[in-house]
Amino acid sequence: MENTDKKENYNIQEIFDLVPTLDDEDKKLIQKAYDFAKKAHADQKRESGEPYFVHVFETAKNIASFGMNAITIAAGLLHDTLEDAQIPEETLKKEFGEEIYFLINGVTKLGKLKYRGEVRHVESLRKFLVAMAENVGVLIIKLADRLHNVSTLQYVREDKRKRIALETIEIYASLANRLGMGKLKGSLEDYSFPFAYPKEYQMVEELIKEKKNINQKYLEKVSETLNKELKSQGLKNFKTDYRIKHKYSLYKKLLKNKMDIEKVYDIVALRVVVQNVEDCYRVLGIVHSLWKPLPGRIKDYIALPKLNGYQSIHTTIFTGDGGIAEIQIRTKEMHQECEYGIASHFLYKENSGKKMEKKIEWIGQMKDLQKNIADPVKFLEHLRMDFFRDRIFIFTPEGDVIDLPEGSFPLDFAYAVHSEIGDKASGVKINGKYKSLETKLENGDIIEIVINKNSHPTRKWLDCTRTSLAKRHVRNYLKATESPTLKQRIKKILS
Ligand code: MN
Repeated sequence: MENTDKKENYNIQEIFDLVPTLDDEDKKLIQKAYDFAKKAHADQKRESGEPYFVHVFETAKNIASFGMNAITIAAGLLHDTLEDAQIPEETLKKEFGEEIYFLINGVTKLGKLKYRGEVRHVESLRKFLVAMAENVGVLIIKLADRLHNVSTLQYVREDKRKRIALETIEIYASLANRLGMGKLKGSLEDYSFPFAYPKEYQMVEELIKEKKNINQKYLEKVSETLNKELKSQGLKNFKTDYRIKHKYSLYKKLLKNKMDIEKVYDIVALRVVVQNVEDCYRVLGIVHSLWKPLPGRIKDYIALPKLNGYQSIHTTIFTGDGGIAEIQIRTKEMHQECEYGIASHFLYKENSGKKMEKKIEWIGQMKDLQKNIADPVKFLEHLRMDFFRDRIFIFTPEGDVIDLPEGSFPLDFAYAVHSEIGDKASGVKINGKYKSLETKLENGDIIEIVINKNSHPTRKWLDCTRTSLAKRHVRNYLKATESPTLKQRIKKILS
């Protein structure tokens, strides 16, 4: 079995290797999900011609690479079993329990959220973030799923490709950014960039080619020099590393600088990750004695963190042979936070593999997001704890989000969408199943109102509405159409 897996390019050991903290019980759970998913998708193929299982396997691997726990990894393996393999809800619950089912179901619902133009996008995104505040695991699985999908975009039909690429940049990468997952954001954008903006991508490629210092070999040399110097100065427990700026983020920076690549100083960056803050400043001194700094380019984001919490010391130096490089100095914790963001708060160790109870931290993070939202004041207002407690978020089949008070009914939803839809409502489908209009809605439900042109509000509707908006519409209708009031009847008799 192991052999055939290798031939097919997936081996469960790869997942285990990514998360060294997994214990035997965790591995058993992941193995079970692995076997289950493999069987469930056995007859399915992707557009690339590969077995469908490759997709869920790669998704789970992405989740593992963010450092998530066994439950989230298992849910990643199973994330398409509900919708694409039609495994019944009961089976999943019985085999894997409520928590994993909750994650799978959440991801399935999220799949229906679509990019619908700038304005509605910001609004949906805001609501979406708030709705997901309690189960960030769902969001992380969805991002891992999208990461694999865009990494295989070349196999997707051309017309579909561009839409997916744009949607990934506009929605998913910006979500990853807001979650502080810098590495993921960069990858999502870079996979999508050539398909979303082919001409611009071509241009960036050409600009990079002209810069002679943007190559692996050169960077290795500079990194080596730095490494030796730090060692000889007696620095211990540090790591040097380098990165070339992600192409899409370079493109955005070029836009800001009138396409002048000479003005972008951080195309290449060397990173020094050290044990503690004192060492950060020590390294800064060593770097400046080794290479001359560019005036005005030293930024101390440790003393003054960026709004999203980012911490590091940056300096730009002349490397001697005409090259310029940025040096980023930070502690291990700062590094973890900046690469994995919110996910670094869900590391297995801190969670003992059970429930994700880091809600408070998550809300703290959410507050940092406000700077990217159109109306920050309003956004923060909505973030108050009581807002989470008594609101539920309901999805339209098209993926729009409507927020309602807890205990709302389908008619509240109908009137929130449009008064006509409320007045003509005759039935409701909740999560694809016909239900009575008296059914109370639950957070995350997908609602489709069934309309009948002969239908109209009745007195009974006042008992199955909760919002004042819906009640007002019903009362207005009744007032206008119901039998005459007592006063009117007396008037009639007297006349
Ligand atoms: Mn998927």
